[in-house]
Amino acid sequence: MSAADLTISAARAALDTGELRATELLEAVLERAALTEAQLHAYLTIDHEGARRAAVDADAAIAEGRAGALTGIPIAVKDNMVTRGLDTTCASQILAGWKPPYDGTAVARLKEAGAVIVGKTNLDEFAMGSSTENSAFGMTRNPWDITRVPGGSSGGSAAATAIGSALGAYGSDTGGSIRQPASLCGIVGMKPTYGLVSRYGLVAFASSLDQIGPFGRTVEDAVTLLEGVAGYDPHDHTSWPGEMPDFRGSLGRGVEGLRIGVVDELSGDGYEPAVIARFEEVLAALESAGAEIRRASLPSFELAVSTYYLVAPAECSANLARFDGVRYGLREPGETVEQMMAATRASGFGPEVTRRILLGTFALSAGYQDAFYGQAQKVRTITINEFEQAYESVDVLVSPTSPTVAFEVGERSEDPLAMYLSDVCTIPSNLAGHPSISVPAGTDPNGLPIGFQILAPALGEEVLFRVADAVETLVGRAEMPVLEEVAR
Ligand code: GLN
Repeated sequence: MSAADLTISAARAALDTGELRATELLEAVLERAALTEAQLHAYLTIDHEGARRAAVDADAAIAEGRAGALTGIPIAVKDNMVTRGLDTTCASQILAGWKPPYDGTAVARLKEAGAVIVGKTNLDEFAMGSSTENSAFGMTRNPWDITRVPGGSSGGSAAATAIGSALGAYGSDTGGSIRQPASLCGIVGMKPTYGLVSRYGLVAFASSLDQIGPFGRTVEDAVTLLEGVAGYDPHDHTSWPGEMPDFRGSLGRGVEGLRIGVVDELSGDGYEPAVIARFEEVLAALESAGAEIRRASLPSFELAVSTYYLVAPAECSANLARFDGVRYGLREPGETVEQMMAATRASGFGPEVTRRILLGTFALSAGYQDAFYGQAQKVRTITINEFEQAYESVDVLVSPTSPTVAFEVGERSEDPLAMYLSDVCTIPSNLAGHPSISVPAGTDPNGLPIGFQILAPALGEEVLFRVADAVETLVGRAEMPVLEEVAR
């Protein structure tokens, strides 16, 4: 077995006893990347030099008894998280070659904790997409079947964690971009309560929805990764100033006595039979473990995708206005400043990003703002109210993470609506700012992973991880995918 296959918990134990050195662990991970990147393309940048330096420092810290939970652990970060001196492209031509002059808060915290940042992972351009096919630098492929997508937008982080070219990773989730790829790649992916992880240095897509969160091969690893970055940050005015939830406290406590609500609206037409079958099996297992299964109806979920596709593009049209050829990255020539900006934006943004900017600009334009954006905000409030009502009688809500398993490369890339519908299950918790998680729940008959989603109220991470951990125990940990190049 390669050290690249270790969970973070197991690697921690081996590092602390001196059985394994951080430098050896990193080399195992880099070797895995060398074997798999040609096929998967999970990374946009691998920082060999920086990672090797960090691993040497980590070994010194461990030897001196200064090690924390992430010291010496090779992790990957999505390429929309700003890293000082290291390319941060958001998978867009408009930022090609941009080396930020600072670290975002999450990245700074990881470095302080002694984590080893292997590199920057691939994504749909500016995190807009559900398949990683919208990357301007080539798609990522699913390690379970390279003819299929890994999901998105954080597909690179998911693929790297699944195959072992990182022990865990971070992504951002605006409408499902952590949970959906986690589900399609057979790992754990979690979106925290809005405000728990600082967005300072996360390149903004839709600011009221964006959250950074972890990918792990186990629930416990996801907890460890979240603990490494969560906490108040004065640089982000939406950062939660109160106490952090107890992420770890309820692991291993089981689900006895918990009330679990099955969302009525998230099943039926469009859900693959295998997805429903695995979902029902997990429910039955939870029930046998002592949980009470109830039904919950949240009718506004039917409007979630439409609502999201007004709110997210509206915010993106404002946020992406900063990419004007003046301050960052690409600049195309033009006779006037306006021509330079227009030419830069026309050649720098890909088709999906352009579509979103146009949609958002239209939705916010004079005379239409109330009809579109204003209306969407009202639906958002209704969704929050429905959640509140549901949580009066259940502790958590559950659904499949994605209606389907990983789809074929190209299958939905010409059909934006089909792509948008991939996120029907994941969007509601972004609209509400609530935490949610995807946990592996077995596979379909072709061996493709299926995810089980758990939703909890704001700051409800303790019960969220408790149920997630119970599901993992009941279902059994997901295996790692096998690629020909990686003999196990
Ligand atoms: N797939 C959704 C979109 O395209 C969500 C993306 C995300 O969460 N960043 O907007």
